[in-house]
Amino acid sequence: MNGKTVHIKSFGCQMNKLDTALVNSALTEAGFSLTERVKEADVVLINTCSVREHAEQRVISHLGHLQHIKESRPDIVVGVIGCMAQRLGPKLLEHEAVDIVCGPAQIHQITKLITKTLQQKKETIAVTEKIRQRTDENLPLEDFESTYGIGCGQIQAQAYVRVMRGCDNFCTYCVVPYVRGPEVSRPPEAIIDQIRKLADSGVKQVTLLGQRVNAYKHTSGDKTYCLADLLRMASDIEGLEWIKFVTSYPSEEFFEEILQAMADLPKVCNYLHIPAQSGSDKILRAMNRHYTAARYLEMLDKARAIVPDIAIAGDFIVGFPGETQTDFEATVDLIKKSRYKNCFIFKYSPRPDTTADKRLADDVPLETKKSRNTELLAVQEKISDELSAEFLDKEVKVLVEGLSKKPHLDSAKSDGNPQLIGRTETDYIVVFNGPKSLTGQFSKVKIAKTSPLTLFARLM
Ligand code: SF4
Repeated sequence: MNGKTVHIKSFGCQMNKLDTALVNSALTEAGFSLTERVKEADVVLINTCSVREHAEQRVISHLGHLQHIKESRPDIVVGVIGCMAQRLGPKLLEHEAVDIVCGPAQIHQITKLITKTLQQKKETIAVTEKIRQRTDENLPLEDFESTYGIGCGQIQAQAYVRVMRGCDNFCTYCVVPYVRGPEVSRPPEAIIDQIRKLADSGVKQVTLLGQRVNAYKHTSGDKTYCLADLLRMASDIEGLEWIKFVTSYPSEEFFEEILQAMADLPKVCNYLHIPAQSGSDKILRAMNRHYTAARYLEMLDKARAIVPDIAIAGDFIVGFPGETQTDFEATVDLIKKSRYKNCFIFKYSPRPDTTADKRLADDVPLETKKSRNTELLAVQEKISDELSAEFLDKEVKVLVEGLSKKPHLDSAKSDGNPQLIGRTETDYIVVFNGPKSLTGQFSKVKIAKTSPLTLFARLM
């Protein structure tokens, strides 16, 4: 289906960014061209996330906007892909704007679905009826790859590589185990082969992705591979310079091995994203998180003992059912002790069909959730500010991502070059002036000014 133009809008997490990158490559290969502008598009795809209610609401409001466009351009095809497509399935086709519904496990079929819809002017749907069973681990390599798509996506000199799908943890607030199914780890040889090809094509940084990436486990012959094995194997790949992995669940299993690999292997970036979600043991139990706040802090201590300059990021949910002021204060205490580089804080909202939604009353008033959210953000901002300030006058290496989308007034004085944005190995965002040709390259910069979330620098 050549000559047709597709616009993709992505909501949600890194898994979704990867799926968007996969869809982009598949569409380009099939002869579609991509556009940033809805106005120019024959097909609009929305890659969705079900993890937060807010994300779903944004998708619904976006669909309303597309419905409006469809009134004057009835031929435009609209597809909803990703977690929300899996969760709502055929119900989404009831929305007047929607022509295609495609779940995350069917992403590899997307070009076929679009072609069919454009040719037959019929709605199409591809979602998993029953999320696949774990026996998939034993599928031959080719079957695994064709079942799960190619498993990697590329953005500039960086690529995301999915090492596993799904989650077994069933945190009571989370839809992921329902929409993405049980944990299935991809065979290490497939992952390493992919990374090697990416490095050969110029990729300098890969991020290994999994909902609980540290739970990666794959048995091949008489050897069981864990994430630390993958890190060691990936480190041997020539041309590849940085390896990151997200997201880690606070579990003892493989924890030391993974941290030791980080300490031993220069290519493995000293960055750990390890959500705690709450500092109250009562709330952690209600969330079905299998650790206490004290145990979590011990894990952070261990991480810092093994990798002294590690940067740690966290996630918290405020206003979970039953969260009292005392529970919240325990969270404030944990955030202070954890000294995160940055933290993502969310106000609890029940996700349909989760255990929390079915069994627990959403009893913390919205106003309380908002004020707790603001308070936690303020506590974290102060810590982020202190940690950022330690970079002042230091030289750092950044991987340049491209032009800064929002020009920062605080950047080093303009020298006629555009403002660029890059990241350090510990995931700090750095803004500096430099030639656009540095995109996708490593650069050395000197930090001239800091703020809680951004470092401002001069090119060396
Ligand atoms: S660990 Fe919990 S929050 Fe994370 S994906 Fe699994 S169920 Fe969801």
